[in-house]
Amino acid sequence: MKQILTVGRYFKSKYKQRVRKIPISLQGFTCPNIDGSVAKGGCTYCKNETFSPSLQNLPKTNITMNFQLKENTIINEQLETLKNQFNMHSSHHKDKFDTNKYMVYFQSFSNTYAPYNTLKTLYDEALRLQNVIGLSIGTRTDCVEDNVLELLGEYVKNGKEIWLEYGIQSIFNSTLKLINRGHGIEGAKELVAKTRSYGIKVCVHLIYGLPKEDSNMMLESLNEVISWGIDGIKIHPLYIVKDTIMEKMYDVGKYTPITLQEYTDLIVKSLQIMPNNIVVQRISAGAHDDSLVAPLWCFDKNIQMSYIREKLLQAKIVY
Ligand code: SF4
Repeated sequence: MKQILTVGRYFKSKYKQRVRKIPISLQGFTCPNIDGSVAKGGCTYCKNETFSPSLQNLPKTNITMNFQLKENTIINEQLETLKNQFNMHSSHHKDKFDTNKYMVYFQSFSNTYAPYNTLKTLYDEALRLQNVIGLSIGTRTDCVEDNVLELLGEYVKNGKEIWLEYGIQSIFNSTLKLINRGHGIEGAKELVAKTRSYGIKVCVHLIYGLPKEDSNMMLESLNEVISWGIDGIKIHPLYIVKDTIMEKMYDVGKYTPITLQEYTDLIVKSLQIMPNNIVVQRISAGAHDDSLVAPLWCFDKNIQMSYIREKLLQAKIVY
């Protein structure tokens, strides 16, 4: 049997106890692929409110983060949101899972896309929260500035567990163009190496089932990112949610979603070749509400995971 290094196993073996990631979504954050800096409209499948339900409850603001913002007048409100979300989620985990070590996971949009002082204030505060051992920061490869890498590297030197999560999705520029990603694959490998040179761990996100990709291409993307020396990976199926460009493509028959069988077959192959030192942080995803358009097997993550786990076990893989 091959046992996969899941995020639970990774934390347990490193910290001798359970560590939970607390997802945080802050008002004012956006993405250069949405605000027009690199492209408009965002990735064709993107609907952040669906990916992070807590975004729907955020206080409204007219201020949006970017590198040019001179003065962040909502920093106090953002700090308040950070503390409130952390307290709410951590008390839930403490009661339900008897956990008392946490990673703060800046999840929604691009969480390095803000003035340096804003990022430092938020990251510093997150690391001061009770029982927080580190940060995981979701972002794009085109919006991480050197001074932020240096800052994160300082946290690492001070014993914190710091991860950057880069949305790569595919290594094929033809696909990245098709999904309006707003950047190509050039420079991603070098950025991963540079990030890791600061002691920061890198988790790469890939999507299986992107338009015009076959299984060979998806596995090629996986093999390529593995060759970069990444520390962790999240893989998920492309699912279509309402009010996205992908929904329009799907409605007119220009896109056929990946089936559960195809996806599972790819996950089995992916985990067969996964090096034992890569932390596999996710292999499923879905939307458990009426925002989901297709495929319908992405509605219930539990059913999805029990099917995938069963096929993995048949292939002698323990997830
Ligand atoms: S990079 Fe992320 S936040 Fe930005 S448009 Fe794409 S999916 Fe949405």
